[in-house]
Amino acid sequence: MSHDPDATLRDMRRKLELAGSPSPARDASALMDVVQGDAPPWTPLDDTQIARLNQLVQRRVQREPISHITGKRAFWMHEFAVTADVLDPRPDTETLIETALTGPFTSVLDLGTGSGCIVLSLLHERPQARGLGTDLSDAALTVARKNAGIVGVTERVSWQRSDWFSDVTGIFDLIVSNPPYIALDEMSSLAPELSHEPQMALTDGADGLSAYRTIARDAPRFLAPNGRLLVEIGPSQAAAVSGLFERNGLQEIAIHRDLDGRDRVVSGIKSP
Ligand code: GLN
Repeated sequence: MSHDPDATLRDMRRKLELAGSPSPARDASALMDVVQGDAPPWTPLDDTQIARLNQLVQRRVQREPISHITGKRAFWMHEFAVTADVLDPRPDTETLIETALTGPFTSVLDLGTGSGCIVLSLLHERPQARGLGTDLSDAALTVARKNAGIVGVTERVSWQRSDWFSDVTGIFDLIVSNPPYIALDEMSSLAPELSHEPQMALTDGADGLSAYRTIARDAPRFLAPNGRLLVEIGPSQAAAVSGLFERNGLQEIAIHRDLDGRDRVVSGIKSP
């Protein structure tokens, strides 16, 4: 039997809306794209496609992130491969990219790289630069390696399993990180999608500041003179994280806002 794609989309939207998805229309068309592939959107659907769509809708009804279902997420200039082993790249993190690109760098270290979206986007923008991405999770590094191929910078990036700086060697003129910064007691009030993501990428299991304490303490030893440290933060953490930067001797500490006007990045410079 053949099915009208418009009626199918409407039906999907209704189910997703009922399940509480904040973006039912966008979800429905993303799932439709998975099943239709390159066929024009008006192409009638067959029974197999409808069955497949029902399965995908069911996963989204369970509030699995759309990126886990489609296997990809657009970030900066690329479509990154995404699995349940990595944090889903978020538009907020593009503020970190923009801030990093306001200054020069030829070597960049990305701590807790996850999908690799930060270091890979930076290397894409700076064809002379080399990068190192670290993660505690080997599974995440596997996803990051795949993404290096997608971005086309495999030759300029290395990967290292490391607990923050524990297994890092080298000196960098830029260090970036989007560490887990959600406090444990905030986790239960967050969107259901977050329960599908790696918890170690979201929370430190404490007050949300543990990673910044380690990063601010150790970064100066791995930064070149005038090297920059940039971290993504939660919107309420600017004062606490700037304070940590200051106590560890970083200079020219600045807070940068995201497109919604929320504090999103703290930066500092190692004195020459
Ligand atoms: N920005 C993410 C969120 O609030 C958190 C990511 C992180 O902890 N680094 O959903």
